[in-house]
Amino acid sequence: MEIKAASQAHIVSDAERLRVEARQLEADAPAFPDDRAAILAEAASLWHCLGDDERALRLCGEALATGGAGEGSQLARLRRLEVYAHHGQWSHVAAELRALRAEPVSPRPAHLVAEVLERFGRPGEALEFFSYACGPLLTELDRVEPAEAGKYLVYFDSAEGRARVRAALGMPEDELDAVIRRSYEEETVPLNGVDCVAPQPGDGKSPVAGFVARADLGRSHGWEPLVPAEFRSLGPQEYLLLLEGEWRVFTQCRPGGLTLVPVRVEEYQTFARQVGPSPSAQRLRHDFLRERLRSGDVVHWPPHRNAACWCGAERKYKKCCGAPHRA
Ligand SMILES: [Zn+2]
Repeated sequence: MEIKAASQAHIVSDAERLRVEARQLEADAPAFPDDRAAILAEAASLWHCLGDDERALRLCGEALATGGAGEGSQLARLRRLEVYAHHGQWSHVAAELRALRAEPVSPRPAHLVAEVLERFGRPGEALEFFSYACGPLLTELDRVEPAEAGKYLVYFDSAEGRARVRAALGMPEDELDAVIRRSYEEETVPLNGVDCVAPQPGDGKSPVAGFVARADLGRSHGWEPLVPAEFRSLGPQEYLLLLEGEWRVFTQCRPGGLTLVPVRVEEYQTFARQVGPSPSAQRLRHDFLRERLRSGDVVHWPPHRNAACWCGAERKYKKCCGAPHRA
């Protein structure tokens, strides 16, 4: 009960902080004529979070009444659109989208509009606005030099969103989608060992770790996207023993052991293809682990000393990864 009370107090203080911030933005706005619309739009967004949509809409109206086009007024339209979408007022949403299309939309408002549309289940319109937001990548992709990639980073988020809604719409992967997918594959978020222990969804059972099945470790490079870079130079036996050691350390202060998911490289690759682009490689791996958990293809760690070893070798645990001299 004490914890609950404390967490409610926390929520109340968060709301109070938002309220203070929103009022401060409103008070500051007149002092910054060039940014007034953007500041009022920001305040409107906070009032919407706080549930005061009347005030949010009024501030958006004020922002738009300052006249002028540009990012500030686009942000005000975005915030108004978000309130309308929240209330299912789709004809009002459509009117805001028409107004936004009437001028070139800046990348940031375009991206945020797309996110709102995606969140409210409008992938077709979200695709349109993600495409505006990553426009330079769509037209200049061939000319992006690796050394210059930083300049384009701001557009990659939007390209990720674009790939995501294209996949949701069942569209085939295009050149930009492929670039995004490869950039996930190049991430080196560890899957194995303690670093990839992902909480089992919901049911509070033991932590979950994935490992590349022994049978797949002999394949050259097929498993590389799954294994942290620093593990890649290890032989199969060293890799498995390193995991065993990591898990022993991890469980020293957490009784109950681990649930292990043996990952077969081909199953993972098939899963990744079916899912299509995901927000991140880490997310994709966690989704895959959850999927495998649901199908129940798991091993408990540590096994009984006389049971088969978790690594898939046809030896008892005590004579394989659990052998004392290997600890
Ligand atoms: Zn073993």
